[in-house]
Amino acid sequence: MVATYVGRFAPSPTGALHAGSLVAALASWLDARAAGGRWLVRIEDVDTPRCSPQAGETLLRQLDALGLRADEAPQWQSQRTGAYQQALDALVRSGLAYPCACSRADIAAAHAAAGRVPTRHRPLPYPGTCRAGLQGRAPRAWRFACEKYWSKLALSHYGQAQHASFSIANNLLIWTDRRLGVQTQNVATEVGDFVLQRADGLWAYQLAVVVDDAFQAITHVVRGEDLADNTPRQLLLQAALGLCHPRYLHTPLVRGADGEKLSKQHGAPTLDTSEPLKALLPAAKMLGLSPVPAQTQVADALAYWVMIWRALYNPAP
Ligand code: GLU
Repeated sequence: MVATYVGRFAPSPTGALHAGSLVAALASWLDARAAGGRWLVRIEDVDTPRCSPQAGETLLRQLDALGLRADEAPQWQSQRTGAYQQALDALVRSGLAYPCACSRADIAAAHAAAGRVPTRHRPLPYPGTCRAGLQGRAPRAWRFACEKYWSKLALSHYGQAQHASFSIANNLLIWTDRRLGVQTQNVATEVGDFVLQRADGLWAYQLAVVVDDAFQAITHVVRGEDLADNTPRQLLLQAALGLCHPRYLHTPLVRGADGEKLSKQHGAPTLDTSEPLKALLPAAKMLGLSPVPAQTQVADALAYWVMIWRALYNPAP
């Protein structure tokens, strides 16, 4: 049976919608509408100290003002901690998650002792200190036994069948993004045993996003390109938890004058939605959609872009 299309926009409420996050919101909405599917909004407020309920409400109001309306009430990740715990328990039971006692300083010291130097663009993977046990130290965080799982999948020639969501060959995880094409990553050496639950008890994005994409039966993920290199981690977690894999499309990033990705942390201004079309036009342009005359009704502009989107990206499930 062909799954019915379900898409989502999953902002973190660390601030209001801005010109950059609107590109991902618009693209995911267009993709769902072009497929005749459903579109959901999930507020990713797991990192509670950085998130605020007010920012979440503002985001929802802004989307509504722009005519991007979800088909169900939004889901808030802060309400879903029980589900993340269950997923962690399942991974522990299968020997794919382990407690870790290392602080950042411990990790840096282990790398330094082995003569490994991290760079800004290439952080080093976890050195594996607690993989064989805590040696009497107190547990702080929980990690995914990524290297162990990776070796197991690599040996099994995972996903060599046609139409697999991803495969592993020559020590590379290979997956296809609908816009960027074929992507590869050696998850063991480039990422390593990543965190599932942080030392402060907060759930890591990687675990929460995978659990919720499955819970909401998401078939298509459309989000910013800065998250593309997280996708292999999420594909592995889905496989380890026995969950379905959505298809992925990563949208172009809006950059500030300094060339950095526009973000709330870098002070991107809140999107003014008082004139919805004026706000939507630059986002549509980023996505390669032709402009509409300034007096066009928002609903007509959106319907026009749905048509173009369908021709460009064919989101049929
Ligand atoms: N919450 C993430 C963010 O705002 C996006 C997660 C996702 O779309 O997978 O960057």
